[in-house]
Amino acid sequence: MDTQLDDTTFLSFICESCNQEIEAPADLAGQETECPACAALITIPYVSAPGTLWGVPLANTKGPSPEQTEAMKSRTIRIELPDNW
Ligand SMILES: [Zn+2]
Repeated sequence: MDTQLDDTTFLSFICESCNQEIEAPADLAGQETECPACAALITIPYVSAPGTLWGVPLANTKGPSPEQTEAMKSRTIRIELPDNW
């Protein structure tokens, strides 16, 4: 399988400790890291949480409007791949 990806896939989820919305490269799924907002130890999930930036839309909606998507982007903190990944 070709692992060379042109663009990074991201996962998004919510910190259970402070409800911060976080996005991280899918390569980090299953890794433990610190929440960038509250420093709680979090495990990056393998699937995005519903209703977050990269998750499936919440039930009974057709998905966020462009304005809602922009709002989600602006409140979501991105975790970058470590330099030594
Ligand atoms: Zn947090």
